[in-house]
Amino acid sequence: MKFSDLVLAYDRIETATRRLEMRGLLVDLLRAAEPVELPELLYLSQGLLRPEYESVELGIAGSLVQRAIVEATGTPTEAVRASVRETGDLGLTAQRLLLGPPARSSAGRSVRDVYEGFAAIARAAGPGSQEAKVAGLVDLLRGAGPVEAKYLVRFAVGQLRLGVRETTLLDALATAFGEGAADARGAIEASFNASSDLGLVAGVLARHGVAGLAEIRVTVGRPVRAMLAERATDLTELLDRMGGRTALEYKYDGLRIQAHLPRDGPARLFSRRLEDLSAQFPELVGELPKAIGRRPAIVEGECVAVDPGTGELEPFQEISRRRGRKYDLDRMQSEVPVRLFLFDLLLEGDERTLELDFDERRRRLEKLVTETDRVALATQEVVADLPAATAFFDRAILDGCEGVMAKSLAPGSRYRAGARGFWWIKYKREYTHTIGDSIDGVVVGAFFGRGRRAGTYGALLAAVYNPKEDRFESFCKVGSGFDDAMLKELPGRLAPYRTDTAPAGVATGLVPDVWMRPGLVLEIRGAELSLSPNHRAGFGRIRPGAGFALRFPRFTGRFRDDKSASEATTAEELLALYNSQVRRATPTDGERAGAEPPEPLHPKA
Ligand code: ATP
Repeated sequence: MKFSDLVLAYDRIETATRRLEMRGLLVDLLRAAEPVELPELLYLSQGLLRPEYESVELGIAGSLVQRAIVEATGTPTEAVRASVRETGDLGLTAQRLLLGPPARSSAGRSVRDVYEGFAAIARAAGPGSQEAKVAGLVDLLRGAGPVEAKYLVRFAVGQLRLGVRETTLLDALATAFGEGAADARGAIEASFNASSDLGLVAGVLARHGVAGLAEIRVTVGRPVRAMLAERATDLTELLDRMGGRTALEYKYDGLRIQAHLPRDGPARLFSRRLEDLSAQFPELVGELPKAIGRRPAIVEGECVAVDPGTGELEPFQEISRRRGRKYDLDRMQSEVPVRLFLFDLLLEGDERTLELDFDERRRRLEKLVTETDRVALATQEVVADLPAATAFFDRAILDGCEGVMAKSLAPGSRYRAGARGFWWIKYKREYTHTIGDSIDGVVVGAFFGRGRRAGTYGALLAAVYNPKEDRFESFCKVGSGFDDAMLKELPGRLAPYRTDTAPAGVATGLVPDVWMRPGLVLEIRGAELSLSPNHRAGFGRIRPGAGFALRFPRFTGRFRDDKSASEATTAEELLALYNSQVRRATPTDGERAGAEPPEPLHPKA
């Protein structure tokens, strides 16, 4: 496929307003591509060069991209800067500047050529690499027409802006290649959940059809998408849902880590978002092979900061100091020591254990792990009545955990990669506060601040995700809970998401001063969910013409960098929280267990 054809399709996709239309365009695009180029096409269309977990980056800063535009177009730097100021988009700037000379055309350049060009830019490392990267981009731009230039530059700065998410790509793949197969969508999604590599899935699918997907196996080095939990309102409901008996575990307040141990050599660690965390936790990389006898293996656990003096568990804020850190790793290891509490086993030797029931996985995990200072098993107890569950919950809180995580012991309790369901149920201490769980909201807009907040934002428009419609639906305007330092950094943090028009797939009855493309996720608490005509979350589910609105929303101070926009709280979850509010007229087990009273909220206008 020619790159010029790909970008024409991108242009149509970018302006598609309905999801069905977007999906149709993607189906045409997938069908038009050669099977061998599908992996590259899939990666490029997600703004990637390789699957996300490989963390392959171009490593070319915005200022260098600007320099490449100057060189490729022969436009003076000042004129390029002025255009960027006007358009707010380096891509549009490149498109404009290339409009002039008619002779420019990349008649023969294929998607693969462009992919190779970017791959070479990514590979350039060491002394002189910045120059090489600029030269590589100049080369790509020199052969490009205006629309190609727009997307080349947007790709280079990591802002493709197509608004295509994984669910839509999975739908499109099922339509393009799944014809005739039973539950093609399910099989495609399962392969993606097991491999986290859409390019790989698409390539196999196009060459061998749905039946060929069986060859995609859980493999060391390729993260499995995380299994997720539902929530319960209280321990009684939790036990009911589990059929009266469950394995309760401590719910640790840290970072989820999936550790991959090859037969020999160091472990690799992946976050919930599939980022490679190995460099940030070198002590675990070294220690895991000592703690885990049989390899290859894939284990999962929660990594928590521990007090260096007492060994007690520390709250999430502590471990977050180690996330994303590139320097001072030695100092941080002693300042913020960590312990990994293992709770699951996905692969043991060459056997996919994720197909086994949970009690069997746990039994094997216990046999496999020799506990060390840094690697331990998650505390667990099988309970079958409320007093035992309450006592375990109390112990979890006393030991510094957020609450408990219940794991189903029913037949069929295999590890469900990438899925949220009642096979795992979380119950946190906060559920005894106000509306219960915090909500992870996606920023879709912002309102300018006044008075003390002049020059920054006064409030953010937050949305939940509706996966069925692949849409972000607003549920509150949050202005409380930001301290001065956060307020100061907000404009910078939000700059990459700013956009001039309402982004596709955002539904709200409000018009913010600035629209934001869905990307940044914030943890928000509030007093209760009410109904409002201004918001679109769960619109019409309770009352026609109204959606859910969070009253007195407050930012908890926790940016959920470990979540992508589509991993935010869903509209369905808000509905469940709304319904649980109605049910919660009596004190919960947690309140009886002596949890703190609700924190006062400080709503601001
Ligand atoms: P979710 O993961 O459900 O989207 P979240 O990231 O906001 O939500 P929580 O609601 O706090 O996190 O609960 C789920 C997370 O709890 C898991 O992803 C995992 O990181 C953590 N966790 C802590 N202890 C356990 C445990 N024993 N078993 C499973 N997960 C645990």
